[in-house]
Amino acid sequence: MQMVDLITKKKEGGALSEDEIHFMIEGFVNGTVPDYQMSAMLMAICFQGMTDEETYQLTMAMLKSGDTLDLSRVSGIKADKHSTGGVGDKTSLVLCPMVAALGVKMAKMSGRGLGHTGGTIDKLESIPGFRTDLSLEQFFENVDKIGFAIAGQTANLVPADKKIYALRDVTGTVASLPLIVGSIMSKKLAAGADVIVLDVKCGSGGFMHTDGDAFQLARGLVRVGALAGRRTVGVVSDMDQPLGFAVGNAMEVKEAIETLRGELSGDLLELCLSLGACILTESGFAADDATARAALEATIENGAALEKFAEFVRGQGGDDSVVRDTSLLPSAPIVCAVKALADGYVTKIQAEEVGVACRILGGGRATKESVIDPAVGILIRKKIGEHVAAGETFAEIHARDAETCAQAEEILRTAYAFADAPRDRPPFIRGVVRADT
Ligand code: URA
Repeated sequence: MQMVDLITKKKEGGALSEDEIHFMIEGFVNGTVPDYQMSAMLMAICFQGMTDEETYQLTMAMLKSGDTLDLSRVSGIKADKHSTGGVGDKTSLVLCPMVAALGVKMAKMSGRGLGHTGGTIDKLESIPGFRTDLSLEQFFENVDKIGFAIAGQTANLVPADKKIYALRDVTGTVASLPLIVGSIMSKKLAAGADVIVLDVKCGSGGFMHTDGDAFQLARGLVRVGALAGRRTVGVVSDMDQPLGFAVGNAMEVKEAIETLRGELSGDLLELCLSLGACILTESGFAADDATARAALEATIENGAALEKFAEFVRGQGGDDSVVRDTSLLPSAPIVCAVKALADGYVTKIQAEEVGVACRILGGGRATKESVIDPAVGILIRKKIGEHVAAGETFAEIHARDAETCAQAEEILRTAYAFADAPRDRPPFIRGVVRADT
């Protein structure tokens, strides 16, 4: 078999066989297929696409390139959640304790933020003492005893994805459905959970900008999960404005704690209830969506989810008194209110721009080497649809210095749009995709 023949076949619209796909991925990982041939193949896939069977084989070939987590050491049903990335997305910090309080275990390996989106690991590291560099032993033990753990990736999971993603990034081949599905699902399958829930974001702050693209991605992900024998569900949710109110590491942890205390509601809680209900029904812990939601809401009302979060923080070396006193989290020296110049309704908040403003404040990374400032960020005081009077605050900037504060204010003013009347909006949860829908 020769790589050049496979490239020609794909360029002409042919479907690659299981053997051909495995030959290509193994060869690329072990160095016998060079970057220039893989680049040509990736571009051919971008133009010609892949059948469902090819996408599944691509995922399985990538999965086989490294280790897989054996979660059989952890008793009970194990679930995992993956988000396609967004701004202000602190979902895991609320969802995991709610679900774990009801007995479903969550073993989450998470990433750091890059560009305009934040990473769960960076957010958690703003808690004094909190460690994300758990050994695999410790990770499994915490999942088993506490019900969930969140760590940076420790095992050598899917090295093929690291190598292919690096090439896609510099060859204009990131935006290809089969390549995205292969990349996400190979990592999720390697992480070993029985139930996988995918939070597919749709809108200006997400990866997919239209409903059509987001649903297509959700269907592709769910199809591969089902073919691999995992109970997989996709939830398509709005990312046309930041999720919740806070954007910035410690500020997002504070918002998650306040949500777990039952002090905040809104889109963040709604998303956690929707994702959590999918996890509980797919795990057999609830008969239907309504029962699952009621059980999840009860974990907030009776304090079980907050107590589970405190246990999780202690289990990873953090100071769990932040759960009672969020002023122990890092805070920024400058807080500046951004005020409306005229009366109006908020019609747009470009999530990506808010993410960029947070990065400029020091809350995100411009390069992999950048050091995060956990204290800084942005508080969204008015969300889409709300009325603002002239002189009223619509956002708050938490900054380290006056210069970055001024830059962030300029970006925020262009990220927001106002009109005389509120604009009609599609529902926040756009839909749920299951294997049989
Ligand atoms: N997220 C991933 O992990 N991979 C992609 O290809 C796109 C988004």
